[in-house]
Amino acid sequence: MAHPTMIPAGQGAGLRLRRGEQIRLIDPNGGQSGDLLAFTDDGAQRLSNGRTFDYNGKVYLSTGDVLWSDRSEPMLTIVVDEVGRHDFLYASCSIEMYRMQYGATGYHANCHDNLCAALRQQGIEPEPLPTAFNFFMNVEIAADGRLTFAPPRSRAGDSMILRAEMDLVIALSACPASTCNGGGTTGPLAFEVL
Ligand SMILES: [Zn+2]
Repeated sequence: MAHPTMIPAGQGAGLRLRRGEQIRLIDPNGGQSGDLLAFTDDGAQRLSNGRTFDYNGKVYLSTGDVLWSDRSEPMLTIVVDEVGRHDFLYASCSIEMYRMQYGATGYHANCHDNLCAALRQQGIEPEPLPTAFNFFMNVEIAADGRLTFAPPRSRAGDSMILRAEMDLVIALSACPASTCNGGGTTGPLAFEVL
């Protein structure tokens, strides 16, 4: 089995998947969420949370569910899910978010920039960035629609596996937002292609 590739805390990574390959997303230390984006390798199709909610009929996705493109083609299927709670509602954290909600004054690492950089390194122009699949991010939706964060349910070593349903460019980010990751310092993630 391939050795997992580490994504250091607050950083991103990009890779290509051929149709039929699988990617395992791993939380080495537990309690850490990340962002995943997928584009077709020509950049013509991108991950769509709206299509995915429509065709699955729900906003919480897990084993057996398909992540769809904006042109209604299957991009990724969740084949293993040891965590069982992910978010697909929230936009990736950005420098503007850290300035508005965290009081950041200088630069702050953020998933938006990590994902854009990873995609550009793979030859994809990503902006405007679609909503990422926020794996392991634990968002609770109250009956009145109010949204709250809880710490990710992932324990050390937990993972999920997604199968590529077409040739894809994938971008990943180990989210540096403390509020989504239990309130303390954020940790690394890892991945391996199976
Ligand atoms: Zn983030």
